[in-house]
Amino acid sequence: MRSYFIETWGCQMNQHDSELIEGQLRGRGMAGASDASDADLVILNTCSVRERPVQKIVSRIGALEKLPNPPTIGVCGCVAQQEGAELLRRSPRVGFVVGPGQIARIGEAVRAVENGGRSVLTGFDAEREHHFHTTFRTSSTRGMVTVVQGCNEFCTFCVVPYTRGRELSRTLAEVVAEVRHLAATGLKEVELLGQTINAYRCPETGADFADLLSAVAAIPGLPRVRYITSHPRHFNPRLIGVLADNPTVSRYLHLPFQSGANEILDRMHRGYTREEYLELVKRLRNQVSDINLSTDVIVGFPGETDEQFLQTLDLLQEVRFGQVFAFAFSPRPRTPAARFDQQVEEAVKKDRLHRLFALSDQISSELNQEIVGRILPVLIDGNSRRDPDRWQGRGEDNRVVNFAKCGRESVGDIVDVRITRAGAHSLSGERCSGDGRLPVVGAA
Ligand code: SF4
Repeated sequence: MRSYFIETWGCQMNQHDSELIEGQLRGRGMAGASDASDADLVILNTCSVRERPVQKIVSRIGALEKLPNPPTIGVCGCVAQQEGAELLRRSPRVGFVVGPGQIARIGEAVRAVENGGRSVLTGFDAEREHHFHTTFRTSSTRGMVTVVQGCNEFCTFCVVPYTRGRELSRTLAEVVAEVRHLAATGLKEVELLGQTINAYRCPETGADFADLLSAVAAIPGLPRVRYITSHPRHFNPRLIGVLADNPTVSRYLHLPFQSGANEILDRMHRGYTREEYLELVKRLRNQVSDINLSTDVIVGFPGETDEQFLQTLDLLQEVRFGQVFAFAFSPRPRTPAARFDQQVEEAVKKDRLHRLFALSDQISSELNQEIVGRILPVLIDGNSRRDPDRWQGRGEDNRVVNFAKCGRESVGDIVDVRITRAGAHSLSGERCSGDGRLPVVGAA
């Protein structure tokens, strides 16, 4: 096989897995195709967190089978781990199924297909390989680095511990070496990845995430460090201290709370109460006053009453998140919550989601309005999606900023932008000169 095309669903972990897969395929001399219809091999890197994941993959396999030159299909990601050999039975075009714990063996799976075989590589080994030197990085400004794989929390609604396995931390030395390598290649921002990143423990030294973050923040030549996702249960005062003391650590923190009602948090098996969550936010804001918080929320969890939903809205009002990712509960195979009684009606979930988004958009708009007039350092990612004459980038707290091109800047630059307008999901501004003044028209 000479060419490949990768389709990626889901979170940053999957996006980074696709970079690891792509690096291995290129290492075998294969070239990226511009479209699935031109590729010898199409990899579907799947996600099973959202609704009806298996149906989506089966329907995509069906569409690929109907192409004039149907490619070999490799299914990777969480659905691969979940469905295993069943996916080979779905279509003769599926040449291999590789779960997230076996990504380093893609080359082996491709070789098997070239020799006329089909393979299923799933499950989790006690140790996993990381080949960061061969990772194919898709961004010239930001790089993703895996810190912890899997999760031990077993929230009752979530498939991740089943599809990505138990927590497995890389050594601190290995993570620091990878970040140093990225800083040396000129990347401006590194995003550390883990489903519960602040549960990190170095398997060699026992160092925790506060130690790791402070070691990464000290790497010279790296202006920005981000990390995702933090679990409220694993946030400790030392970690808050590292955020407060290190200006290169992003002022953005994704801290899922999921529900504002203690009874629901308990049934979700989240391991904290509403009061503990609010206390954590208070401590964070006392020490890092400019932190921009985002969160995940589930509405319509089995048994959620109107009163409990109102407690979720109340928590949103109290914390005032910059961004809210909210979902209506939908049962996932193998998870305890799928078997809970008192499932909430779809119409009720839809109504709650609608009300929650109305409130969170209003709050984000108000928070963004407070930034109008301020000057933010913005890392330029690329063209604005709507207007090629404008740049899109992100501030230090991860807010999206669009601004008109001046012709003096390029992708990967960090430039000062004065914010002139704000919406619920992004900011607009104008490029400043070095001293913070707006550029004079016609000036060099
Ligand atoms: S902590 Fe996150 S990844 Fe782990 S089980 Fe809970 S929701 Fe899933």
